[in-house]
Parts: sequence; C-alpha cells; structure tokens
Amino acid sequence: MAKPLPNHDFHNSWGCIYSGETTAKDEAVRQWWQDYFQNPALVETRYHDLLSTYTQLFAAFFGGYYPISLHAHVSDALSPTTVASLILNTCATSPLIFKNTDLAPSVLPTEDGKKVQEYVLEYLGWNESHVTNPRIAAVRGIYGAAFGPLAHASKEWEVQIIASGLQPTVIQIGDSHDALSDSLAEAKRQCCIAVVIDMVSTENGAVLAPDRFKMLKKCCAKEKLWLIVDEALTAIRCGAPFCFQRDEYGKEGPDLVSFGKGLGVSGIVINFASPMTRCLGFVDSDDRHQTIMYWRALVSRPVTMPVLLDALGILYAARDEDWPKRSLAIGETICDIIQGYHPGEEVYGLGAIIVVDKETTMRMNIMAGTRRRCQYSRWLPKLDTPYADRQVLEAYVFGPLSKQHRATLSLLADTNSTHPAWCFICGIESTSNDWCRTCFLGRCQNEVCEETFKQHTCL
Ligand SMILES: [Zn+2]
Ligand SMILES: [Zn+2]
Repeated sequence: MAKPLPNHDFHNSWGCIYSGETTAKDEAVRQWWQDYFQNPALVETRYHDLLSTYTQLFAAFFGGYYPISLHAHVSDALSPTTVASLILNTCATSPLIFKNTDLAPSVLPTEDGKKVQEYVLEYLGWNESHVTNPRIAAVRGIYGAAFGPLAHASKEWEVQIIASGLQPTVIQIGDSHDALSDSLAEAKRQCCIAVVIDMVSTENGAVLAPDRFKMLKKCCAKEKLWLIVDEALTAIRCGAPFCFQRDEYGKEGPDLVSFGKGLGVSGIVINFASPMTRCLGFVDSDDRHQTIMYWRALVSRPVTMPVLLDALGILYAARDEDWPKRSLAIGETICDIIQGYHPGEEVYGLGAIIVVDKETTMRMNIMAGTRRRCQYSRWLPKLDTPYADRQVLEAYVFGPLSKQHRATLSLLADTNSTHPAWCFICGIESTSNDWCRTCFLGRCQNEVCEETFKQHTCL
C-alpha cells in the first residue's frame, strides 16, 4: 500500500490525528474490522473481550496506567464531580475495604454503606463538603482546559470567556516547598480533591521543570491531594508514552492521568501504585479489574465498537512502530529546518509539540493549531516516518520546493469540491472558497482573518 506523502497540515485537528496511515496495520485489528463489516452483531458479542484487550494493551504500553473511565472529550472527563465519584468508587471497591472485617456486610445494608463512606472519607481526608462541592485545583501558567470550570485558569481570552462553573483554585509553584505545601493545604480546606497540571503549556509551549514536578508530587502526597497530569496533548508526542515518564521527571508517577485526542478515545487512567492509591491494596490484577469493571458498569458502552477498533489500531501502531521515540526525531528535524530558514528563532515545546511565534508560522506558510488572539501557534505534525526526513520535508512541506506538491493538493481539492481544512489565521474550520491555490492555505469568513489572509506572502 502506497504511504501518503507528508504535507504542511500541522494542525491535525488540534493534534487529534497521530497518523495519516491506516489504523488497521495490526493483523488482529484488520481481522476484527473485516468481521465487523460482514457481521457487526457477531463482533459486538466480543465487546467486553475487546475492551479488556484494550485495557491490558494500554496498561502495558503506558507503564501500568489503566484506562478506567472513558469519555468523548477530555474536558468531560475532568469535571470535578466525575473525578470525585471516580475516586470514591476506587476507594469503596478496594481490597482495603473488602478485607476489613469491621466493614464486612451485616444485616443492615444502610448502616454498612454509612460505615464504608465514613471509612473512605477518613482515608481521603475529606469531609462532607468535599463530597457535595468538589473542586480541582489548577497550576497557574501551565494549565489550559477547553471548557467548563477549569477553563477559568486559561490565559487565552477565547477560552476564558466560555469558562463556567466554580472558579478553580489556582496554585502557584514557586521555589519554596513549604509555600507550596501551605497553598495545597489551603486548597484542600477549600474542598479541592485534586490538582491538575500539563507537562507542556498548551498556550506557549513552556515545559514543566523537573524539579517543580517533583516538588508538586511530594507536596500533593503530603496533603493527600490526588495529582492528575493532563496528557491529552503530550502523550506519545514527547519522547515517552506519557510525557512525565521521561527520565528527568523521576520514577514516581501521578495518581491519575487524563488522555484523549490522538488516542481515539478520551478518559482517565489510574495508577494503582501511586501515593494516593498504594495503601488501597490493589496488588492482584483481579482486584484492579474488579474496580475498573464496577466503574464501567455505571457507564454502559462508553465507546462504540468502531471507536474501540480504531483506538486498538492506534495503540498497536504506537507500540510496534515506537512512536514516542519517533516523536523526538520528528521534533529535532523540524526544529533544524526552522533554524535553517530563520536562524536563532525561539522554538518552544517538547518532542513533536513545536510552539513558535505566529509570525513564523505565517512566514513559513504552515497550517497550525492557532488562535486569533494568541501570540503562539502549535505545530502538531503527524508521527509518520516521512516527518523525520529532512529531505522529504523540504520537498513536500517547507520552502519553494513544496510549491509543486501544494499545487497538486489544490488541484485535488478543487476536483473534489473541498478546500484546506483549517483557517490559516485563526485555526478554526476553513469555510471560504477564496483560498490560496499556490500555498494550499484556507481561511474562515471572519473579517479579521480575511484581511490578514490577504497579506500572506505566497511561496
Ligand atoms: Zn479564521
Ligand atoms: Zn499563498
């Protein structure tokens, strides 16, 4: 099968697309798809099997992190009440509870429930308010959600104006361990149950310093706050399965991780051997699976069969082709090319998350993840092999040589009555028919975008 040629779409649906190649490369996945087309009902009877295969594969690839809660969008997963219920469910179904003879079932089920609840709240250091009004603390300057309560913490104007719900507590990580501990203790008093952080800022590409991360891990454990790393953007793209698994961030991992985008499914994964879960006694795999099963029983069919098959295919390809390692080579190659065109240009981000000034994106005619009012734009290239090959990139993506390939793409788009997918200026869906056939760049119909688009210099 001919592999698709690379192109200058580094937007990739805000990083939701890891590969332009088929996700059915693995033999088993291909067979499941074929069976599904012929007899979907038969494959549906294997739903639990396949979901369990996915769970095992995920945990093996991501170093023991189990996908427990599955959702359509990562901001759905990070709703404070969802996270609080997930934490309570994890504790209430743990071996710590089942093996405690004081909590053994009696003839009075309501009394039993109360006893278990009291025990769990004591374990978590929560009171009634943490249950009725849970909050998640966000780390200042590094965390950005798309919508909901955590969007209040974003520095981006367009995200802030759609934030809703209670303002999250915002934590600042400075140099002092004690100051951080104090502010986390205060956050916990204000009903915070967890702290969420990004490893790479979605806004300006700043990378979380390893010493800050280590300090945060220690202080969260001390104050009994669950630490959540949001890896929606950083998973696989930063040189390790999860970005925090890079050597410099140390061995201890966070309690929970949110994931999504390119993996095909979004959700929350759990580490059963983290500071907040270790004492729950999840040593046997049967116990872990029981808890996952109890949680998933509350949300029937969290993902449909085609989504699951797609997600399985992505995971097999990521493992078999070592995408984390490839992401480093791709990042290096593209950074080299940027330096070739614009020596000394500041490039932020990590691995295959490349964050540059929007002006640079404009000058290099790249389609990128960008916002109208943001100074930076994010290049999120696909992780296919050609993107690590400088010669190939020079021929099809960057500079005057790429004109021919762009003209071919334009011709194809006109033949099929389509257009470039994203507005070159603001990153949303491109809708105008007045797009550039020389550069294969599109735009939306907003007046500011129209004006700015007119000023772009063609290749
Ligand atoms: Zn636009
Ligand atoms: Zn042009």
